[in-house]
Amino acid sequence: MDIPRGGHWRNWVGNQSFVAGHMAAPSSEEELAALMKEATGRGLNVRCAGSGHSFTPIVATSGMLLSLKDYQGVLHVDRGANRVTVAAGTKINALTQHLKQAGFSLSNQGDIDSQAIAGALATGTHGTGTTLGNLSSQVVGMRIVRPDGSILEVSDRTDADLLHATQVNLGLFGVVSQITLQVMDSYNLHERIWREDFDACMEMHDELAARHRHFSFFWCPKSESRHLYCLPDTSQASNSAKDYDVCEVKVMDITSETQPSESPFEKIAYSSEVYPIEYVPNFHELEYAVPASYGKQALCEVRELILTKHTDCIYPVEYRFTAADPAWISPFYEQDSVTISCSGGPNGVDYWPFLRDVDDILRRYGSRPHWGKLHFTNRDDVDRLFPKAAAFRELRRSVDPEGFFLNDHLRTLFG
Ligand SMILES: Cc1cc2nc3c(=O)[nH]c(=O)nc-3n(C[C@H](O)[C@H](O)[C@H](O)COP(=O)(O)OP(=O)(O)OC[C@H]3O[C@@H](n4cnc5c(N)ncnc54)[C@H](O)[C@@H]3O)c2cc1C
Repeated sequence: MDIPRGGHWRNWVGNQSFVAGHMAAPSSEEELAALMKEATGRGLNVRCAGSGHSFTPIVATSGMLLSLKDYQGVLHVDRGANRVTVAAGTKINALTQHLKQAGFSLSNQGDIDSQAIAGALATGTHGTGTTLGNLSSQVVGMRIVRPDGSILEVSDRTDADLLHATQVNLGLFGVVSQITLQVMDSYNLHERIWREDFDACMEMHDELAARHRHFSFFWCPKSESRHLYCLPDTSQASNSAKDYDVCEVKVMDITSETQPSESPFEKIAYSSEVYPIEYVPNFHELEYAVPASYGKQALCEVRELILTKHTDCIYPVEYRFTAADPAWISPFYEQDSVTISCSGGPNGVDYWPFLRDVDDILRRYGSRPHWGKLHFTNRDDVDRLFPKAAAFRELRRSVDPEGFFLNDHLRTLFG
């Protein structure tokens, strides 16, 4: 069997790039399995790219790089159980269009919907909501192609431990070909956005988090900050006299209403038409999951750092909530969390001293990294922060003893 020649790959923001010896885009599970067998038979390392929206070197390979861009779509709908099986290359926005037509919704989503579903799940991608888990916690089954081309079947109905080991997987157990998700009946969301002074936002924090299904905010140190993340101008919906050192607050709740509001600061629509916002590739993001009880305290320290030491670091700081889940290397493993994300400037700007200082603060709270975003986590940190790290590595070795799915970055952490 021929394996197509490779080429250059880069991620969305352009801070990660490499040359793969071979590149292929199978359009079925059978083709994927045959390519896998051929590649590993030749001793090639194998990685799979989603849509390249991770900031870390988790895709890199000099061996065979696969893309499932030609393997997309809904494969099966189980209406009785509210379960939907999709091809792993399906983009989240294509998936949610199918779900809308079928009368379903995802229970929660992140800020964008352009990731491949397998890519988003592999890193534990999340949205916001104190009672809502990350996207990976919606996975109830997977089919994963192993080094010899055989299929590792994962299902909550047969082996919950295996599911929890692989729900957040970083591509370390093989290439995921199919995913079964637990979905909800279709719902509409009512979104409201407004601006608050930082201190007022901290005072309302607990109440807003308890009262709304989704609560999040961007703290903007400067008036220019919001432009960097394409945030809307809420000066007409502001409780603050300032437009700097303010929080751009967002709450969303399920509603039975369907009529869009006339206000530019409110929106009512099908769930997946409300979750995503717009970003342009001008930033390099770090994000850590902080134990929920330390969220406010940690944010106050990060704010102080920006206002006093890194005054030129003016990207908004995003603050969200995610409920605990049982996935072994999920940032939210058995821990309700607040996520704090900070960004460094565009390509060419040395943002590392700032991000290193943010890491110094957040690691004191026992925070865990988002695997798709910049972090300073080393192997000792993994052992300290993830009680199931050793079990995860052991299972990884049993599925891939020769390390076909490792790369330099992942070998250090999980080899
Ligand atoms: C603008 C922007 C907004 C974002 N918003 C959020 C957000 O709101 N919440 C959040 O939590 N994160 C967010 N992220 C991070 C993003 O969701 C994650 O980095 C996600 O993993 C990217 O998905 P992807 O499809 O681009 O995968 P990639 O970045 O291409 O790959 C991610 C990992 O998945 C693996 N992978 C991909 N496909 C497969 C497969 N079929 N089988 C096995 N492994 C596979 C890759 O090898 C890699 O290890 C954002 C990132 C950007 C750039």
